[in-house]
Amino acid sequence: MGKDIIDLHVHSTYSDGKLTPAELAARARHHNVIALAITDHDSMAGSAEKLAACEAEGIECISGVELSCELDGDEAHILSLFADPASPEIAMLGSMQDSRETRMVSMLDKLSHMGIHIDMAELPVAKDGMYGRPHLARALVARGICKSVNEAFARFLYDGGPVHIAKSRLTAADGIAFAKRLGGISILAHPGISGLIPHLDKFVQLGLEGVEVYHPKHSGETIAKLLRYCRERNLLVSGGSDFHAPGDGAEIGSSKVPVDVLEPLRSAATSRKAG
Ligand code: AMP
Ligand code: ZN
Ligand code: FE
Ligand code: FE
Repeated sequence: MGKDIIDLHVHSTYSDGKLTPAELAARARHHNVIALAITDHDSMAGSAEKLAACEAEGIECISGVELSCELDGDEAHILSLFADPASPEIAMLGSMQDSRETRMVSMLDKLSHMGIHIDMAELPVAKDGMYGRPHLARALVARGICKSVNEAFARFLYDGGPVHIAKSRLTAADGIAFAKRLGGISILAHPGISGLIPHLDKFVQLGLEGVEVYHPKHSGETIAKLLRYCRERNLLVSGGSDFHAPGDGAEIGSSKVPVDVLEPLRSAATSRKAG
């Protein structure tokens, strides 16, 4: 048994992750994770199932969502942690899902112009209908056109690649405001991999409340720098593995997020709800 840890950023079959909430919760417990946030892309579908799955494993379920946003044209992901699954604001996510579906139709069209014909019905789609590039990547692998998801991204799907179409995104200002309207705490996800560290001040000016400091792709140096940044500006600290699938990227719990970041996040969320 190692030390207890938490993981506040993983993906399930409700977006582009490969594991169901039940599989995620079991895997999380196996890795000594005692609190888990299943933060699907632009979707809070399956919230009751996520809660039940975590309860069945005896771990705490933190509700949340990862919102697709942009700052000056650059991709920026904003997490809303402790978002209320019963919030009427969730309806807004429906239009993000719809535009992802339209985008997928257009990406399949681009692919067919390259002589590769894949049907919408062939995609291993998310529960509740969220479409993302990983679904198309997996279909290309299933067809034998690519050997791996990585190859599908490297050949076709990378940002600006021959089949990629930018998704519709919220502005960072709207994303931060929306994260809060959902009743959650607004956190900038993985600033170190999105090249956003030099722009942190801009997010803070827009009302950002916290930073995902712990992430598998953040070096020890980046983590130290972000911790200092948060301390100096009184920002909340968060962290997660961004786990999507076994053997594909980082493992659940691998960011070793210390348990003590949880209570400040929770009490900020509780005051939001009370206010
Ligand atoms: P989308 O939201 O449809 O634009 O797809 C973005 C998702 O694709 C990210 O959340 C990752 O899960 C995945 N992704 C992005 N780049 C790569 C890559 N090079 N290899 C594998 N997966 C990737
Ligand atoms: Zn993803
Ligand atoms: Fe992300
Ligand atoms: Fe993510």
